[in-house]
Amino acid sequence: MRSDLEHTDKTNLLNLDRRGLAEFFAGHGERPFRAQQVVQWIHQYGVDDFDAMTNLGKDLRARLKEIAEIRAPGVSRDQQAEDGTRKWLLGLDAGNGVETVFIPEDDRGTLCVSSQVGCTLACSFCATGRQGFSRNLTVAEIIGQLWQANRLLRADPKAERVITNVVFMGMGEPLLNFDNVVTAMRLMLDDFAYGLSWRRVTVSTAGLVPLIDRLRAECPVALAVSLHAPNDALRDELVPLNKKYPIRELLDACKRYTAGEPRRRITFEYVMLDEVNDSLAQARELVRILEGVPAKVNLIPFNPFPQTEYRRSPPERIDRFRDILMQAGLMTITRKTRGEDIDAACGQLAGKVQDRTRRGRRAAGQANLP
Ligand code: SAH
Repeated sequence: MRSDLEHTDKTNLLNLDRRGLAEFFAGHGERPFRAQQVVQWIHQYGVDDFDAMTNLGKDLRARLKEIAEIRAPGVSRDQQAEDGTRKWLLGLDAGNGVETVFIPEDDRGTLCVSSQVGCTLACSFCATGRQGFSRNLTVAEIIGQLWQANRLLRADPKAERVITNVVFMGMGEPLLNFDNVVTAMRLMLDDFAYGLSWRRVTVSTAGLVPLIDRLRAECPVALAVSLHAPNDALRDELVPLNKKYPIRELLDACKRYTAGEPRRRITFEYVMLDEVNDSLAQARELVRILEGVPAKVNLIPFNPFPQTEYRRSPPERIDRFRDILMQAGLMTITRKTRGEDIDAACGQLAGKVQDRTRRGRRAAGQANLP
């Protein structure tokens, strides 16, 4: 909450889900049902002005203005790609910013949100991983991305699509900011706020096994797992977290996540890196390890960024890789690359990170070596 305290000591109501709001009102001697009214004003109607909340009494509105505020991160850049994808840079405290991407499709509109400023996991093929890590986002900064995007899309008469899906596939590892991400998701799922079904909210993780179990217990939304390799030797290289939670343990956690829930399936993300993880033998190996896991596979053509040595697999190889998975009965789709002309595709989100781990500087230094 550092960014909030910098400006004011008012309670930012965007940090609270409905239960938190009920406690807030109870703490101020108000009836808890106010929480329902206020959550609707804020999240359904996109209101940030207490005077607009006409079903609250005048005195309560005046009091709220004194002790509370509704403050989302401000939009410091707004870009639109040729294919309609939009990317917003949200300004945070000094030197920090995160990116949010809206992806309109025929039958839905997906908002890709960030959960941290930077990331600690340092996956070798990810632009965010190269930047180091600054801090976790607050609840207000996470739900604020959806709140802002909704307002901006509503204000734009040309925007045809509304947000029907949210994916935590922007900057950061959502499970490492567990409490704030879960509180923000409770608002996404709340019928008095955004009312999205659990199938339309996806957490994407590099594979933090104990936190996958915790998510199952506390807020079982749709789960995507960044697998990217069919064996530990290669995955250790691409996703260093694998050294802590190897593939077998990760897949066991995935089985627990879906156990007793016949409609639940894990989406396995697999970035297609030319001559690294895209051979036919590796496709067959992937089929073998996913046996018995309720899975679908999402192949993501690698999106390059400055100073990376990886290249995207050629389309024919991606197709052949997909065919092997499909022939083995695995539901597989190749993710369409969107918003490339504004660097809005997977793994290209950079925002602004005040790196406090020095990893970003080390990576930049290495890249300058001859
Ligand atoms: N930390 C989470 C969410 C962040 S990224 C996770 O690891 O899942 C969302 C997806 O984009 C992940 O599957 C990630 O591995 C993938 N990705 C990262 N960099 C990429 C790149 N350069 N090209 C394509 N996909 C990338």
